[in-house]
Amino acid sequence: MTERNYDLHCHSNRSDGILAPAEVAARAHANGVDVLALTDHDEVSGVAEVMQAGQSLGLHVVPGVEISVTFAGLTVHIVGLNFDPTNADLVAGLAATRLGRTSRAIEMGKRLESMGMPGAYEGALQFVSNPQMIGRTHFARYLVQAGFCPDVQTVFTKYLGDDRAGQVAVQWATLEQAVGWINGAGGQAVIAHPGRYKFRPNQFSALFDTFIELGGVGIEVTTGSHTSDEARRYADVARRYGFLASRGSDFHSPTESRIDLGRLPFLPADLKPVWHDWEDRRPT
Ligand code: AMP
Ligand code: MN
Ligand code: MN
Ligand code: MN
Repeated sequence: MTERNYDLHCHSNRSDGILAPAEVAARAHANGVDVLALTDHDEVSGVAEVMQAGQSLGLHVVPGVEISVTFAGLTVHIVGLNFDPTNADLVAGLAATRLGRTSRAIEMGKRLESMGMPGAYEGALQFVSNPQMIGRTHFARYLVQAGFCPDVQTVFTKYLGDDRAGQVAVQWATLEQAVGWINGAGGQAVIAHPGRYKFRPNQFSALFDTFIELGGVGIEVTTGSHTSDEARRYADVARRYGFLASRGSDFHSPTESRIDLGRLPFLPADLKPVWHDWEDRRPT
């Protein structure tokens, strides 16, 4: 039997992806994905559309989200999977998390202007289809269009990465809130792309220990955001901490993403996947 292809991390134009939720489902299906979760940033408004599209394609879709969290002064992303997307506390919590984005975007526009790149806030808005969800990727697309950088990756390297002068830090949700909203809605909380965080070893231990104490269950091991070295490192972390392992492309766009939907290595066979009991959890 060939292994089922799970892609449990990707984005639509409800956050900073390019495709509509139904287009994400169609592309995933065409790429051979068997089980998909659309995980828009701080937003579940695309979940109904992607599930409906999945149903007509014969693609199994589980609800997903990627919540922005501030932990130890840095941004950490927590993916939620297989929850009730209509849960009132979750929906309200995500709405509150989105609130800071517009004022932050205006501030980022000012920073970029002072760095010689005027009009970036207005320019970024042209790339936003969900007005509450303006983020760094929309700015990156504008700066490429305006000719300041050759591609989105360069924008992050030079101006908008976590330690670059053009980005503005926000106080996102707390880890406790994010895990609480996901668990309260019957889902599973997973640390997204741990290889991306610039934590010191003791901060990583604190993140993993606190996450487990709060009821988090998984980490992403195989993701478009990890090198193969990082995938090996976090496979070891999963073994040491007893985390369930997740797999997701973090696909945003056919032209910008390093990895297309479903096109990434399978999990190491000895890890217990986050989906190991999904047959049992599926609502009757
Ligand atoms: P925001 O939520 O506005 O802080 O934007 C975060 C998003 O920016 C991430 O989800 C990625 O889509 C993108 N991003 C962050 N860092 C990078 C990077 N180094 N390279 C490419 N995209 C990045
Ligand atoms: Mn993103
Ligand atoms: Mn992320
Ligand atoms: Mn993502």
